[in-house]
Amino acid sequence: VWDTCLSIIKDIVEWQHFKTWFEPITPVDLKENVLTIQVPSQFFYEYLEEHYIGLLGKTLKRELGKEARLEYRIMMDSGNQASKPITMDVPAQGYKTYTNNEMDFPLVINNPVKNPFVIPGLKKVQIDSQLNPVYTFDAFIEGDCNRVARRAGKTVAEKPGATSFNPLVIYGGVGLGKTHLAQSIGNEVKHTHPGKVVLYVSSEKFINQFMDHSRNNAVNDFIHFYQLIDVLIIDDVQFFSRAEKTQDAFFAIFNHLHQSGKQLILTSDKPPKDLDGVQERLLSRFRWGLSADLQVPDYETRIEILERKMKNDGLDMSKEVVKYLAYNISSNVRELEGALISLLAQSSLNKREIDLELAKKVLRNFVKTSSKEITIETIQKMVCDFFNVPYDKLLEKTRKREVVQARQITMYLAKMFTKNSLKTIGEHFGGRDHTTVIHSFQTVKDLMDTDLLYRESVMELQQKIQLAAM
Ligand code: ADP
Ligand code: MG
Repeated sequence: VWDTCLSIIKDIVEWQHFKTWFEPITPVDLKENVLTIQVPSQFFYEYLEEHYIGLLGKTLKRELGKEARLEYRIMMDSGNQASKPITMDVPAQGYKTYTNNEMDFPLVINNPVKNPFVIPGLKKVQIDSQLNPVYTFDAFIEGDCNRVARRAGKTVAEKPGATSFNPLVIYGGVGLGKTHLAQSIGNEVKHTHPGKVVLYVSSEKFINQFMDHSRNNAVNDFIHFYQLIDVLIIDDVQFFSRAEKTQDAFFAIFNHLHQSGKQLILTSDKPPKDLDGVQERLLSRFRWGLSADLQVPDYETRIEILERKMKNDGLDMSKEVVKYLAYNISSNVRELEGALISLLAQSSLNKREIDLELAKKVLRNFVKTSSKEITIETIQKMVCDFFNVPYDKLLEKTRKREVVQARQITMYLAKMFTKNSLKTIGEHFGGRDHTTVIHSFQTVKDLMDTDLLYRESVMELQQKIQLAAM
């Protein structure tokens, strides 16, 4: 069953994403309508839940029927099984049911590590660190732009809490590697100090958790929970700005951890001194440790980063193309990766090699320079080509199934990709009126929601059109 689901999903999801998020899943159990899959981490589970639940749900229902259910098992760190986490927000049976309203698709997580607020007094805690294992030092290319920060991170990972880099504040613009570097420290600590409790949390999540607990008069539980951590990583603390109550709680946590020789790692999009809305007493504590910045990588480093990504993904691309990308995308690493991924997507979609010409095409779109205008006629021709329907049939009254389908999809795409009015679109189909166009549009939308293969065709056409627009 899982293999079938995968083969459907594979055609819908960009393969880069497929590789990252679906290949690492192992099916572990199938009982009647319940499929259990094992995912590598809590992070994985959350990512899937956030981005792919609709797709997973539909695919599974297709295979197992309307009553299909998906259960996740989250792989836990094997060195950490000392005691069971007691969680406060999970029913006594030890699992939590998530219901996605839109999909009417109940999810059961049988490893309750979400918001794992442990009741104080337990000697050993088992907490999922919420780290993404792909973020490692090894994958974090060093250059002049990040040398100090990377080395400081290494040092902290070797001796968490025992250096003067406490807290370690990593700051820099978007897409420059703050999250990656901060998580690398966490992953490395888990590896070399398996006894240490590591936790990664975004500041948004931290704030939300705080507010939840605050509403339930349980701020002390919140603080106690965080005081159990040995290495606490909080990402994007600029969001703490003006969250006064959260800052108070964080102040208490910070002091406790710091005094007990525990490590704090914070990231921010600006240097601590520019963090408006963050209390001065916190800022002064940030200065106790080390603040290290991440800069935009230079050309050589960008080349190295690209080459590393290609190696990791088993890709081949000429030096010429690599240089072209590195030269033209200088803003940040995320953009660089984004360009690489679009390039891959376009190359696999069009079954053509990645060469300089394709790179130029993709990049042109990336920097959003002038693009060709897409006309209704172009779309009509593409759809006819795709479904092998004669062009003239599109304009006639034919009620043949394939023709009707092609016609509806063409109208849908025309509405999506051109600025023409419904009336004009209708006129391009042998003088149909605008209600026909609306009806077609709605039909396609509905079918896309219920029929995966249909959806796949429409998506493929959309991509073809986007390409043609470059
Ligand atoms: P930020 O948190 O600063 O916005 P991220 O850590 O999310 O940035 O990095 C964006 C992307 O760039 C990630 O996929 C990350 O792996 C990658 N990246 C950033 N810096 C490097 C680097 N020095 N070497 C390799 N990949 C990097
Ligand atoms: Mg980040």
